Amino acid sequence: MANQHFQIVIIGAGPAGMAAALTTTKAGLETIVIDDQKDSGGQVYRNLQANQETSPAYLGQSYYDGAKLAQSFADCGAVYRPDCTVWQITDMHEVALVSRGKAELITADYIIIATGAIERPMPVKGWTLPGVMSVGGAQTLLKQAALGADNAVFVGSGPLLYLTAWQYIKAGLAVRAVIDITGEKQWRSAIPFAPLALLQPDMLAMGRKWIGDIRRNTELIYSVSTIEIIGQSQAQGVSCTLSSGDKIDIDANHIFLHQGVVPNVNLTMATGLAHQWDHQAHCWRPVIDVTGKSSDEQIYIAGDGGGIGGAKAAAIAGRLAASAIVARYGKPRFLAQLYYKLRHLHYLSIRPFLDRLYLPSADFRLAQTDETIICRCEAVSKAGVNAALASGASGPNQLKAFCRAGMGRCQGRSCGLVVQEMIASHTGQSMAEIGYYRLRPPVKPITLAELASLEGPWPD
Ligand SMILES: Cc1cc2nc3c(=O)[nH]c(=O)nc-3n(C[C@H](O)[C@H](O)[C@H](O)COP(=O)(O)OP(=O)(O)OC[C@H]3O[C@@H](n4cnc5c(N)ncnc54)[C@H](O)[C@@H]3O)c2cc1C
Repeated sequence: MANQHFQIVIIGAGPAGMAAALTTTKAGLETIVIDDQKDSGGQVYRNLQANQETSPAYLGQSYYDGAKLAQSFADCGAVYRPDCTVWQITDMHEVALVSRGKAELITADYIIIATGAIERPMPVKGWTLPGVMSVGGAQTLLKQAALGADNAVFVGSGPLLYLTAWQYIKAGLAVRAVIDITGEKQWRSAIPFAPLALLQPDMLAMGRKWIGDIRRNTELIYSVSTIEIIGQSQAQGVSCTLSSGDKIDIDANHIFLHQGVVPNVNLTMATGLAHQWDHQAHCWRPVIDVTGKSSDEQIYIAGDGGGIGGAKAAAIAGRLAASAIVARYGKPRFLAQLYYKLRHLHYLSIRPFLDRLYLPSADFRLAQTDETIICRCEAVSKAGVNAALASGASGPNQLKAFCRAGMGRCQGRSCGLVVQEMIASHTGQSMAEIGYYRLRPPVKPITLAELASLEGPWPD
């Protein structure tokens, strides 16, 4: 059976993917949107349609601001495939997906990858203990199932940490403490970019409101130099050292960690697209032009997957990429494109400030103790990685062969940046020179039965 063909295949139904679909369908292009969640919305507007029925106020107005976009997307006429995971894009621009145990190939004239961001790993001692999860995981439970835990401790830095702690407090959950790892060094490097950030007064005001409410409702601890989670078989608390040298131990069974988000590069890297090391945001990002066009003429990248900008910037980036593709079908929309470019720049004006303020120090990007697990999938500790380095492993892929770090189910999402930085500090080379794991499909786990369910012809 011949593969289905669409003019436009969009991967990801977050703000970027939804907005892109509005533009391509309006121009009359056959569009399919594929997303692995049960509902549209992505990370920021996760489970929005269901939550609108009861509209719990604790999720905040910025969450419900996505309602108009989600509704327009539902009405735009694009084919929408929820609960569907893309595991490969071939050189022939075939998109390989799996849904409910069945694999398929879809071909496209153009592909927009809008797969968003993932949380930056935070390898502190004890982070693999039951009771410890990422702040993103805790927020997902709140958005998806109205589930939360009382007396949790939030540890880390970045807007998502404050937003979720604030959502917890607004939901009536007790927050035991918020431990903020942002140090003076970060403030000093960010302040020069504050004037630019003033172009986004609403975002700054929102952040101040979250922190103000957190301060009124729980303990906000700053300037910590070490963090470790206490417990043998279960998290029992957090122990941190202040820059003053004082030690604080806080009892808690639930500890949520977060130190920022980075582009989700697994699909874009496994597709062989060019990537660059972003020194400002300390992460990899695909090489794209202002419209989102990647190193492959027929593949565009929009939203946080192309560089962190947040929900509003993601939606505009979706429009920008889509209108660039529409122009390639002979329907140029110069004014619209100009408007999207200017809006996108405007929304990104706060990034230089936020990227510097919330770039965690190397002390928290790297594990602080030898027994700390670096690769969660293969249970490889800092000592294990260092042993591989001492035996001569010189790059991430050789290190993978030496100690299996990065060989597990998450395909390096939890350890890649940490391993890369350990190699950089061991060899003295730059992060860009070290490079990253060589990522190959499938980018998400699929079973052999699913693979076998694929009717020929098979992807290369
Ligand atoms: C855990 C988490 C929580 C966040 N919460 C907030 C928040 O509350 N407020 C806020 O302003 N910002 C939040 N952010 C920041 C968020 O990145 C942006 O605000 C915004 O969601 C980015 O939009 P996007 O369209 O680029 O990506 P996303 O919204 O992330 O949408 C990408 C979509 O693609 C799907 N996807 C990814 N890979 C595949 C694949 N291989 N196959 C099929 N589907 C795939 C994802 O499941 C997701 O639905 C959060 C980020 C993370 C990582």
